[in-house]
Amino acid sequence: MAKYTSQELMEMEHKYGAHNYHPLEVVISKAEGIWVEDPEGRRYMDMLSAYSAVNQGHRHPRIIKALKEQADILTLTSRAFFNDRWPLFAKKLAELTGKDMILPMNTGAEAVETAIKTMRKWGYRVKGVEKDKAEIIVFEQNFHGRTTTIISFSVDPVAKDDYGPYTPGFVVVPYDDLEAVEKAINKNTVGILVEPIQGEAGVVVPSDGFLKGLEKLAKENNVLLAVDEIQTGFCRTGKLFAFQHEDVDPDIIIMGKALGGGVMPVSAVAANEDVLGVFEPGSHGSTFGGNPLACAVAMTAIDVLLEENMAERAKEMGEYFMAGLKAINSPKIKQVRGKGLLIGVVLHESAGKARKYTTALKEKGILCKETHDWIIRFAPPLVITKEEIDQALEIIREVFA
Ligand SMILES: *Cc1c(COP(=O)(O)O)cnc(C)c1O
Repeated sequence: MAKYTSQELMEMEHKYGAHNYHPLEVVISKAEGIWVEDPEGRRYMDMLSAYSAVNQGHRHPRIIKALKEQADILTLTSRAFFNDRWPLFAKKLAELTGKDMILPMNTGAEAVETAIKTMRKWGYRVKGVEKDKAEIIVFEQNFHGRTTTIISFSVDPVAKDDYGPYTPGFVVVPYDDLEAVEKAINKNTVGILVEPIQGEAGVVVPSDGFLKGLEKLAKENNVLLAVDEIQTGFCRTGKLFAFQHEDVDPDIIIMGKALGGGVMPVSAVAANEDVLGVFEPGSHGSTFGGNPLACAVAMTAIDVLLEENMAERAKEMGEYFMAGLKAINSPKIKQVRGKGLLIGVVLHESAGKARKYTTALKEKGILCKETHDWIIRFAPPLVITKEEIDQALEIIREVFA
């Protein structure tokens, strides 16, 4: 393959690729663990982890081994037939989540769509909601993906504008406001769809008891609670799932990103039979959902998280990193917030936009991304060490000096 420089590659992407992203000016051509490299051989510390899809670190040897071994045996069958990997993955993920059943998809947005369909179908079949009247409660500043239905209940004009007409049936209430949820519930409410921490909104952590309160409201009103763990799940926040910080038992668990071990898109929905049992043959599906290659990768991705105690690591390293960030004490920094290794640094408006700082950090070897104009998210792979965090803190300190 021809070798191109970073500059040439960025120009080629700009010319031939649709401009639906605004990447930092760095080209990654190689990666291992928390480190990535550009075509010129410059090394960077990855502090984004592909939006938490690379929790296990880039190219984790066990996950790559599973990928290669499965690629040599069987990759795709479609669900027209059984295969010998999907049942094992379903069993493993059901046991991990403590739910009866799993529905496999590929991307996060597809899993969210699956949860929406589940709640609606459950509403009509089980709760007895009148045809086409189902309502799902969602939250301001939510991010659940990019499909036309999902952006229909986004409040971000950039994500939403000019994609109408929008899918009805969603009620948007303020995040972290149980009273607003209680007021929004009526006889047509079938579900509540929530992020345990709002990642894309800028690592917004709700008050203690918010999720527990949602669980209680859902139970009392015969409404399903669906938790979107696509970004917060799989040890990122210091627990296997973020809802476990509050000992909540959601009706529906939506998973994606790190479930694919940083290798493939793998997503899934977990729920008990009285909920996920509403689907019958033909009522939902995906050609690639449950494919043997994805299942082999995902099973190993889970093993790695558990056997390498990544939840514990995320908790420990997260506390260490967050304490270090707080100690920087720059007048430019308004707040440091987060849980585990999902950390948001909120800037004062007087400091100038976050992009300036993510660009400066990139120049010094740290890759992270701004979310909205004033927030920088730090979310390194969970395999990061204390020494590497120290190294990062030194650079971050310089940039904010
Ligand atoms: C990334 C993300 C999604 C969408 O996942 P895709 O794989 O990009 O479709 C949905 N919800 C949350 C909370 C996410 O972070």
